[in-house]
Amino acid sequence: MKNYVLAIDQGTTSSRAIIFNKQSEIVAKAQMEFSQICPHSGWVEQSPEEIWETVYEVIKEALFKSGLQLKDICAIGITNQRETTVLWDKLTGKPIYNAIVWQSRQSQDICDQLIKDDYEELIHKKTGLIINPYFSASKIKWIFEHVPGSYEKAKKGEILFGTIDTFLVWKLTDGKLHITDPSNASRTMLYNIIDNCWDEELLKIFDIPKEILPEVHSNSEIYGVASKLWEIDDNCDIPITSIIGDQQASLFGQCCFDIGNVKNTYGTGCFMLMNTKYKPVYSKKGLLTTIAWNIDGRTEYALEGSVFVAGSAIQWLRDGMRMFKNSRDCEDYANRVNGSDGVYVVPAFVGLGTPYWDNDARGAVFGLTRGTKKEHFITATIESIAYQSKDLMEVMKEETQIEISSLGVDGGASANNYLMQFQSNIMDLKLVRPKCMETTALGAAYLAGLAVKMWKDKNEIIKNNSVDKIFLSKMSSKERNEKYQGWKIAVNATRQFKR
Ligand code: ADP
Repeated sequence: MKNYVLAIDQGTTSSRAIIFNKQSEIVAKAQMEFSQICPHSGWVEQSPEEIWETVYEVIKEALFKSGLQLKDICAIGITNQRETTVLWDKLTGKPIYNAIVWQSRQSQDICDQLIKDDYEELIHKKTGLIINPYFSASKIKWIFEHVPGSYEKAKKGEILFGTIDTFLVWKLTDGKLHITDPSNASRTMLYNIIDNCWDEELLKIFDIPKEILPEVHSNSEIYGVASKLWEIDDNCDIPITSIIGDQQASLFGQCCFDIGNVKNTYGTGCFMLMNTKYKPVYSKKGLLTTIAWNIDGRTEYALEGSVFVAGSAIQWLRDGMRMFKNSRDCEDYANRVNGSDGVYVVPAFVGLGTPYWDNDARGAVFGLTRGTKKEHFITATIESIAYQSKDLMEVMKEETQIEISSLGVDGGASANNYLMQFQSNIMDLKLVRPKCMETTALGAAYLAGLAVKMWKDKNEIIKNNSVDKIFLSKMSSKERNEKYQGWKIAVNATRQFKR
């Protein structure tokens, strides 16, 4: 009986392969980092070939570590860094330019022009997105403008576009499948999230030939066979059965299947997503409307927001301020004092996101006294992650009018119990931290396993969803309000400091 699923988690800094069993437990895991190419300030690129090589290597390594054989795997699921853009030659398979990574700003001018031309509203309505170089469309246009002859070749159907999922499937199937899924497509800025199709008008606005686009398939179905793996065992036809963008994958992996279910991933930044089910909710305060997934012909939507600086504020304490050696040490410092003693750190290192949208704000510290200790400074920095997430959640509540009953948490910094307890206190909300911290890979694995009936349905999955720890608020509403008021004052004061 084939009772294992292989999830490929192709992230921004590393590629991972994780094998899950029917109980949703990790059987084996392999991870490899790859190069980040920064040709100019603000540009971030990667080699698509190197990404592929790391993926292939981690598949082999995870398989080896598990002691399983390829024939024990019933399906492959893929989750990936979103928006990152690859164009390649259909005949030779060679990328015509590096992968332009989501954070890369090189297409800023193209976006500025679109804003000038008054396309913001139209694009928001069709795609749920805000005009920004993050999304793929302006990156594609940038490549056409900078690689001579590429646009003409694209028009002749000789160039293919893909986000990383598409490129990996193409590689895994030896160029047989050129496909993506709605969660990735909805981050390209070319996909109409209401009509569920590539949008002719948007293609015209960006001047992108339709010929380069992949076919969009649902998030959970048998797409085709990973024939590349015949190199490992030529008797095995392992089907690829799910594709899903990383944040939507973790929403699925956290079993946020119902309306109002929310998850927050505490990594370098925070990504908060709320399932709004069949209704796309549009934000006036900068949250993104996106497709969560499409299963059995039905599209579900999510509302998404992000905190720019979260775990990276802890890295700053560690590397910039040299306050401790390991990120996890910050919790010990926080436990040595009783709160931040009125200190607020606003880590606006790169401006402030939702709901402030202030690019020019920079970090600040308030409330210092002669009695302020390093411990208070560290505590205040940890708490800033929770305050920013609360700001985000308040906007979600306001714009959806949906009741939130709990928050699923994951990501590196969610291991910090002080942060999680404070988060629960300040949101007055139940936090649920799952046992399996690899929720992104797990989401892709679930969708892959569902397609081949390794798991019968979502109910069977929910039963496997085991909890590591639940955090309940222990703060009085008076204290909560006072503290949050203090944060708001600190943010306002931060924004006053402009030079
Ligand atoms: P990413 O996927 O964005 O690289 P991870 O989910 O791997 O991020 O989390 C890493 C981030 O979490 C780092 O910024 C690190 O500083 C932070 N982090 C890790 N452990 C802790 C901890 N115990 N307390 C607070 N922050 C932590």
